[in-house]
This record gives sequence, C-alpha cells and structure tokens, in this order.
Amino acid sequence: MTGSTFCGARVLLVTVLLFYGYVCLGQGLAYYMLLSLSADWSFDGVLTVTGTAPERWSELVLRVYQPNYINVSVIEVGCEEQPWWEDDRTTIRIPVSLNRGQTYSLTVAFSGQVPPLHTQSGYGTFAASERVVVLGAAYPMLAAWDDDWLGGPLLPWGDAVVADVAVYRVLVEAPQGWSVVSGGREEALSEGLTMVEGENLRELGIVLLRDHVVQTTVAGDVVLRSFSLPEHTAGGAEALRIAADSVELYEGLFGRYPFSSLDVVAVPLRGAVGVEYPGLILGDVSYYARWEEEPLFFPMIFAHEVAHQWWYAQVGSHQGAEPWVDEALATYSSGLYFETRGRLSEILSYWRNTFHLARGRASAARVDSPLWEFPGGVGYGGIVYSGGALMLHEVRLEMGDEAFFASLRDYLGSHKWGISSGDDLLAALDHRSASALEEIFSRYLSSP
Ligand SMILES: [Zn+2]
Repeated sequence: MTGSTFCGARVLLVTVLLFYGYVCLGQGLAYYMLLSLSADWSFDGVLTVTGTAPERWSELVLRVYQPNYINVSVIEVGCEEQPWWEDDRTTIRIPVSLNRGQTYSLTVAFSGQVPPLHTQSGYGTFAASERVVVLGAAYPMLAAWDDDWLGGPLLPWGDAVVADVAVYRVLVEAPQGWSVVSGGREEALSEGLTMVEGENLRELGIVLLRDHVVQTTVAGDVVLRSFSLPEHTAGGAEALRIAADSVELYEGLFGRYPFSSLDVVAVPLRGAVGVEYPGLILGDVSYYARWEEEPLFFPMIFAHEVAHQWWYAQVGSHQGAEPWVDEALATYSSGLYFETRGRLSEILSYWRNTFHLARGRASAARVDSPLWEFPGGVGYGGIVYSGGALMLHEVRLEMGDEAFFASLRDYLGSHKWGISSGDDLLAALDHRSASALEEIFSRYLSSP
C-alpha cells in the first residue's frame, strides 16, 4: 500500500468520524479508529492519533499489547509514510521532529486475529468464544508520557496498559448478530456498524456479545448495565446491585464517578476473576453461575473492579513498575464495601491469610515490588493486593477516618486524569497525618 492511497483512507476515516459526531476537541489526545471484524475474528483497523507534543519530541512511541495477534503494516505522520523500528514486538518507535506545543497526527494501519479462548494462555481479555469476544487492548496505543515514554516488559500476570487519557471516536464493524458493549457510549448506526464515543478514557475496552440479556439500574446520575447469559440472570442482577452500591459508596467517600455509564459484563476469564477498563468491568462468567456459593468472592470482584474507576481510570499509575498503587487502593476500597455490610473483620482475615501465605511463597517481594519481581506471578495477589490493603488499613487507623479519606480525596484531585506514583500516594497520606507514618510504610514497602 502506498503512502498516498493510505492517506486517502485516512482522510476517509476522519471524514466519517467528523460526520458521526466529531466535536471540537482542542489539542488533547484523541483516537479516531475504524475497527472492522470478520466472522472468523480476523480484523483490520485504521487508527489516527492526534495530540500536542508537551516538549520537544524526536520520536513517538506506540505500544502493542497483543503482539502475537496484531500486526502494524503502515505508519504515517501527517500524510507522509514513515519508517519505524521495534525495540521488541511490543514497542514501536517512530522518528519525528516536533517542537513543544506542536500538534501531530499519527495514522496506523493494522490487522490481526482474535484467538479462540481455549488456544491462548492470557486472562482471556483478547479472545473469542461462542457467545463472547473480548477485545482488550485491540489496537496500538500511544505510550504514556511522563518526562519520558513509559514502557516496560509485558508479563503474563498483572495489568499491562500504561496510557494517557484520551477522547475516542471509534467505528466498530462487527459480524451480523453481535452487539457491541464498550467503555464508551455506543450508538448502532446500521446492522453491524456501531459508533463508540468517550472522553477521558485511558484505554477503550470493547466486548462483542451474542444472546445476552441486559439489566439496568441507576446510582445517582450513573446508568449501570449488567450483561449476562440468559441462564445467569440472577447472578447478573446481583452483580448489578453490587456495582451500583459500590458506585454510591465510592462517590460518597472519594468523589464523583467520572463517566455517564458503567457496563458490567460476564465473560469467560482465566487466571483472573475480574478485569477493569474505564467505564467497563468484566466478571468471570463461572462466578455468575455459582454466585450464591461465593459470598466473599462474588461481591469482591465487582467492588474491586468498580473501585478501579477511581484508582486506574481517573488516577493512572505505572501498572508494571508500581502495580500496588492502584491495586492496594482498589482492594482497600472493596474492603470498605464489606465494612458497610458489617463484614470488616471477615475481609481483614482474608487479607491477613492471603498476605501471610504469599510472603511464604515470595519472601523477597514487598508490597511495592514491580510485577517482574513476582516470577510466574507467585505471591503477587497476596502481597500487592492484600498486603497493600492491610497497610492502608493501618494508616487509616493511625490517621483517623476524617484525615485518611480527606487524603484520598486530595490524591484524586491532584492526579485526576494523570499518571501518579507511589510517592505521590504516600505524600498525600503523610500530608494529612498528624503523626509519622514511616514505621507503617517501612513494614510493607521496600522504599518508603
Ligand atoms: Zn485490580
């Protein structure tokens, strides 16, 4: 494909997106995309990323989070086809010459294949099955910028995406009979063609569903939808109730839920019970089938993933280098859900048990260890999630509720829509604490 004909495709894409709801976006980061899926789950995509260089940039960096299943074929900057190189299969570097404040337009043509769920070893967040196709990180993403391009290895455990929030306008072309659910707002344009739009999205999660039922409720101004198989309607209703209660709880403690809607979708997962995207959370379908037998785990899935709408979707962090920053907060927030139901001691016991077990299996790791210091993922959940939550509970007891929750609101307010660090979180807690917290931090962290 030549540069000039590809540029024509790009102009067509932008024209289509302009026609279907382009708004004046200013100079912030924006993704315009056409994603076209065939019945065999092969796909083609054209993506235009526009934004403004925050300082002098000599390269743009794209991350491909599904390197085994997505191939980039053409890259243009402006309308010029551009050579690029790969550090590894997950990182694409495109030379540019941009001055501070200069706008850019990067267009990428890509294609790929969504693998059948049973053939791949991941969590199931990029996988096709009989009635569900999960499209997590299904397109190249601009790496997040924080004085440098944030990268790091992709590992089979933990979360991978580190990205800056953006406006999204995406046309999804899906095979007949499949409906599109996403972290944005969906509008069916015609059979098989859906427009997805959203603002301040750190990434766009998309799920295609067939033969699902939807139940709806509201929490304040937020519309929640729960998608499940017809045979799991009771589990779907319970997931919806827990998610709505969690939204109300966290809005009262931390601040407003930032999007107009939240979708909760039952999908087959492996090695994870729930997964978060901005505006969209996934729960493992096997728990929907037996939710009444899982009085601890079933609520935990949704209370935890809803909390990520504050601690990840709003306040980003480096999920590889410092996974504890959002996971400790999401885990502790889910504990608050249990606390409001008189179940604090139950969740504290669970955290203590899992932390103790994990420390026996990964004795060198600390709450603030990076993902790559948990070989094979061993001990990761117990140390980072449970240990991190126990640390926050001790901090809360030391500070008192008023100062503790005020510090979390400070932290949210200071870092909303940005990328924060563990030091930022500790500083927010320290700032409101009448007494020194170092002794608590030092028992859990390697570098308090
Ligand atoms: Zn989490």
